[in-house]
Amino acid sequence: MQVDDQSEYECKDLQCFLRGLERRNPGELEFHQAVEEVATTLMPFIQEHRKYQDAQILERMTEPDRVVIFRVTWEDDSGNIRANRAWRVQFNNSIGPYKGGLRFHPSVTLSVLKFLGFEQTLKNSLTGLPMGGAKGGANFNPKGKSDREVMRFCQSMMIELHRHIGEDTDIPAGDIGVGGREISYLFGQYKRLSNRFVGTLTGKGLAFGGSLIRTEATGYGCVYFCENMLVHKGESIKGKSIAVSGAGNVSIYAVEKATELGARVVTLSDSDGFIHDPNGIDAEKLAFVKELKEVRRGRIAEYVDKFRGSTYHPGQRPWIVPVDIAMPCATQNEINFDEAQTLLRNGVIAVCEGANMPTVLAGAHAFAAANILYGPSKAANAGGVAVSGLEQSQNSLRLSWSREEVDSKLQTIMRDIHKKCVTYGASSGGNVDYVKGANIAGFVKVAEAMLAYGVV
Ligand code: NDP
Repeated sequence: MQVDDQSEYECKDLQCFLRGLERRNPGELEFHQAVEEVATTLMPFIQEHRKYQDAQILERMTEPDRVVIFRVTWEDDSGNIRANRAWRVQFNNSIGPYKGGLRFHPSVTLSVLKFLGFEQTLKNSLTGLPMGGAKGGANFNPKGKSDREVMRFCQSMMIELHRHIGEDTDIPAGDIGVGGREISYLFGQYKRLSNRFVGTLTGKGLAFGGSLIRTEATGYGCVYFCENMLVHKGESIKGKSIAVSGAGNVSIYAVEKATELGARVVTLSDSDGFIHDPNGIDAEKLAFVKELKEVRRGRIAEYVDKFRGSTYHPGQRPWIVPVDIAMPCATQNEINFDEAQTLLRNGVIAVCEGANMPTVLAGAHAFAAANILYGPSKAANAGGVAVSGLEQSQNSLRLSWSREEVDSKLQTIMRDIHKKCVTYGASSGGNVDYVKGANIAGFVKVAEAMLAYGVV
């Protein structure tokens, strides 16, 4: 930490701060990237507000409160003993209990979870709800595993995880590789171990404390945020063509809402390639994708066998298709610099991020320089965790709100997040720097709480 090193304590500029961060967290490239994006826009603001600088708020905010690392041992269907590594990164609980998803994917590392936990802290603050930031997961690959194998893994993971979570302590949810099936296994085991029925996980099934619209919330929220950006500029999503990446939870419901609002979504993808359907992915086609991904757990390539006029592009990503709007909804760094340039050359007017940090830093700078509407993930995909927060409220009240009630609250939250971004990100020329707006708005609430607590 900076406070432990006199030379760093004197450090007042961005480069010095980033060098210190890299030295303290060697090799954690995703974490460095996420902090650099935030610190670049925050540093001038912090320098104007000496109270944050004097209290070393950014240095403290980039150090997780706590990291738990543990082994998860389980038995596969053939009787082999398997071992994975799991983590829970409890990043910051200044404004509420830790809250953030669990990711199951072979690419999960401490660096990935620290970047996600740091982003989550600012995102949760933006929602206006009392939630701190956390993230967790395991380098477990659910692909190709039977339901029983996934169940045994989840149960074994919860045997350790349950010691560290609780409805007023830390409330995990889903993320890549963790959907309704996994949350159900995890919650069932948590309930068994704690002998309590409380809302310690969100994304639960509707029969046992889940909220209507939680499954849809991240995708819907991303489209609402996009519409807010467009309307602010005198435009609308209606009639626009959209490239969506991924074919998971966020992508499917982004397509559903965008189509409902009159847009034409022309792509979906998975890690093997993308499909292009120039006629648009309408409700009937989306029903096929839902069944394919959520029930059969198949690959997106199957889409083209079913729908004429569509094409499959193995090994490629959707960003080569000319569209009005790009919605990356798969994973981090899925738009590289060249792809950002291609999107701009093809006339994209908005990029709205459903996935976390899907654009490399140079790509994000290219979008900013081109003055297009660029909705960064911590603002655009905050709808998911917002409805998780609403699920917690319903659990505490022992009530269930209607679909319309939850959707209307989600729309209000996304509108408020947009407003906060405009408050802190509007420039004199009338453009809005949504990256700067989201970073400062998210930072201020957490920073004020940390200042109030004193030196902790
Ligand atoms: P899912 O597991 O439901 O879907 C992920 C999709 O992205 C799949 O189509 C998957 O393809 C693809 N994908 C995953 N990893 C890679 C990779 N390394 N390269 C290419 N494609 C990949 O996850 P979600 O939809 O829940 O999450 C997607 C993104 O949205 C993540 O960045 C997540 O952090 C973010 N997010 C999710 C929220 C939620 O509520 N679920 C909330 C806020 C953000 P394949 O099947 O081939 O792996």
